[in-house]
Amino acid sequence: MGARGATGDVLRSAIILAVAAIVALAAGRAAAEPTCPTDPLAPLHTPKVQLEVQPRTDGGAASYGGMQYRRTPGLGPKDIALTIDDGPNPQVTPRVLKILDKHCLKVTYFLVGWYAHAYPELVRQEADAGHFIGTHTFSHPDNLRRLSVAAAQSEIVRGFDAAEGALAGGTPAEKAQLAPFFRFPGLNDTKELSQWLAQRRVAVVGADFGANDWMNITPAGIEHRALVEAAEAHGGILILHDSHMHTADALDDLITSFEQDGYHFVQLVPAESALAGRQPGAPIFGATASAAPRDTPSAPAAKGAELMAQVLAHLKIWAANLAVFGDWLGAQLGRLWAQGLAHLRH
Ligand SMILES: [Zn+2]
Repeated sequence: MGARGATGDVLRSAIILAVAAIVALAAGRAAAEPTCPTDPLAPLHTPKVQLEVQPRTDGGAASYGGMQYRRTPGLGPKDIALTIDDGPNPQVTPRVLKILDKHCLKVTYFLVGWYAHAYPELVRQEADAGHFIGTHTFSHPDNLRRLSVAAAQSEIVRGFDAAEGALAGGTPAEKAQLAPFFRFPGLNDTKELSQWLAQRRVAVVGADFGANDWMNITPAGIEHRALVEAAEAHGGILILHDSHMHTADALDDLITSFEQDGYHFVQLVPAESALAGRQPGAPIFGATASAAPRDTPSAPAAKGAELMAQVLAHLKIWAANLAVFGDWLGAQLGRLWAQGLAHLRH
């Protein structure tokens, strides 16, 4: 072995030392940020991105999501803030909560008030798990631009009322998960409603990308769409829906694929200043709701119209969830059929 071999040995030793140092550094980082026990690719705690609610200089609400507004400050190109709309749903939401729990992933919900009112225990489970609760109107009209301003405001106020009502029976910690965040159905905002929300220190949350999971699409299709759109949008705010079983079917693999592609999940939460002067769990519209149409004394005719609107809203929600209901009905019939067969065999 000559001088050349000795140099090689020195080089090799230096490389081994360098690799050891990198491994130690990585281990140190891992020690500083514990990993999720059921997902080695995820941190134990989802980092939070705080959203301010101070109105914009033009008087509109603080608004987030690159599809319509400026990119959310604090969201890097490989960050994804998962938001989930249109629930809670008694079939889908519990499955989604389990998957999120498996990945130690915290999200921000945008609830439909009627469902929050119908399934308050699911809203409390979401809050109890550390997810934040924003709202998305009471009965999910497709487009608030088509409603009168008063009717649209009533939809928004009643949406918050329903979420607050669902959390009213919860612990103080659960109540504190209510966020002054609103998402317009179909992202159809208006300048007037944005200014009205700004006065109430409510932020509008849009999106950077979606996964077409509101359409008739397979779980594999949702995953593909989400990955393609994330690459195009450079991450950001992702909208999924827990009103469709196919979203729950896709979610576990989708989260893993994002993690393997180097994305990091973050959670959208209200900035501390957004909650300043507001008791945790205090009604978001409590102080100002008297201006809302719901408190104006209504004549019998107006009451009839309101009742009809509610009936139509309920029918629409049921229609929108026919696929989920169909899944459930199919499962029940299948179970009965299997039971019947087992009974016959005995
Ligand atoms: Zn929606």
